[in-house]
Amino acid sequence: TADANTATTATNAELFARAQAAIPGGVNSPVRAFRSVGGTPRFLVSARGPYVTDAEGREYVDLVAGWGPAILGHANPEVIAAVQDAASRGLSFGASTPVETELAELIEQRVAPVEKLRLVSTGTEATMSAIRLARGFTGRDLLVKFAGHYHGHSDGLLAEAGSGLATFALPGSAGVPADVAALTLVVPYNDLDALRAVFAEHGDRIAAVITEAAAANMGVVPPLPGFNRDLVDLAHAHGALVISDEVLTGFRVSKAGWWGIEAGTDAAYTPDLVTFGKVVGGGMPVAALGGRAEIMERLAPLGPVYQAGTLSGNPVAVAAGVTTLRLADDAVYAKLDEVSGLLQREVSAALSAEGVAHGVQVAGNLFSFLFGEAVADGAHDYAGVLAQESWRYAPFFHAMLDAGVSLPPSVFEAWFVTAAHDEDAVSRIVDALPAAARAAASA
Ligand code: PMP
Repeated sequence: TADANTATTATNAELFARAQAAIPGGVNSPVRAFRSVGGTPRFLVSARGPYVTDAEGREYVDLVAGWGPAILGHANPEVIAAVQDAASRGLSFGASTPVETELAELIEQRVAPVEKLRLVSTGTEATMSAIRLARGFTGRDLLVKFAGHYHGHSDGLLAEAGSGLATFALPGSAGVPADVAALTLVVPYNDLDALRAVFAEHGDRIAAVITEAAAANMGVVPPLPGFNRDLVDLAHAHGALVISDEVLTGFRVSKAGWWGIEAGTDAAYTPDLVTFGKVVGGGMPVAALGGRAEIMERLAPLGPVYQAGTLSGNPVAVAAGVTTLRLADDAVYAKLDEVSGLLQREVSAALSAEGVAHGVQVAGNLFSFLFGEAVADGAHDYAGVLAQESWRYAPFFHAMLDAGVSLPPSVFEAWFVTAAHDEDAVSRIVDALPAAARAAASA
């Protein structure tokens, strides 16, 4: 084959068969396999603005946006130029570069609780390192997380709640030792009483609470007003830290992430550590953990908490991140909000027109839909989300895909807009909705 990454004569089905022979499940990250919606995943070869193109040469309006990073749209010319320029000067040095400091400064200027910051390559690394740092700083072992929140695939975070209000977790994946999972306590989201109960019982052993700043990995579930503030106050009263995971929300929902949305309101809160990913890499592998200087300075080489990475602060990747953040001005966020609001209303109207009861879940410009009468008023925790008629999503998804719109291939994911979603892209989405709503209605 010539260039494996340009249009091919192979179909998506042929490429998937070949991939399955070479790669477990044919994918390098599970949700890409379309398991929850069925059918053949599209093998993509290029992306530009609000569109992606598959190996068969078919174009789709994209509402995945690389799972979040592409706030400016795909292949923004200035970002691509910055990457090409950086690449022409060498791919990886394993030494410090000026541009790393620039990215750290950009983040620190926008998110006040971040006084110092370290770059890593994935969101998983960021949360894993933040947890080690919280344990090293407090000298405690237990971690509290919320049911339905996702923080990457490190052992202690792949933990599920057992029965009961708040229990020591069971492993959520084969290969996670029970002893490791047992260090994680899982609590229902937005339930301050449950959190209080956990602190009353184990407070002096809890190193940190980790929480998505606004949950968006079970579909979107925003924090109830004041929940982030109250959980920070509660954790601090017990000498525990709060790790606010903004891997998904950071620099997507506002210029200062979810923290920026609540800052200046009476729900304002100050987390001890914050994790970032996705947008801070502009589509390249960059993530970060940051926070109070006193805590961050416990990291090696200053302190005893070890953390490192051959590719950390990679100059080509960081060039994409810096350029993306510089271009993400107020106009970009206003556009993201506008497109998001418009799509929320259009999807909701199309579903209503076909008599499909549904709820709309919103956190900033992130949104998702819940299907069924039982969830028409929305959900504020994982149990609430699971109460929906999730089977209505697959036919909806496939009707949209057939019409040239690429949605997240699971009902438990947020929809992502970009600032490049112009009138043409939006009208292609809107035109596809009636047939998709009919498919959801008859499921
Ligand atoms: N935290 C959150 C909130 C996320 O959404 C994700 C990824 N979706 C992660 C952590 C893990 O990031 P990565 O996939 O880059 O390891």
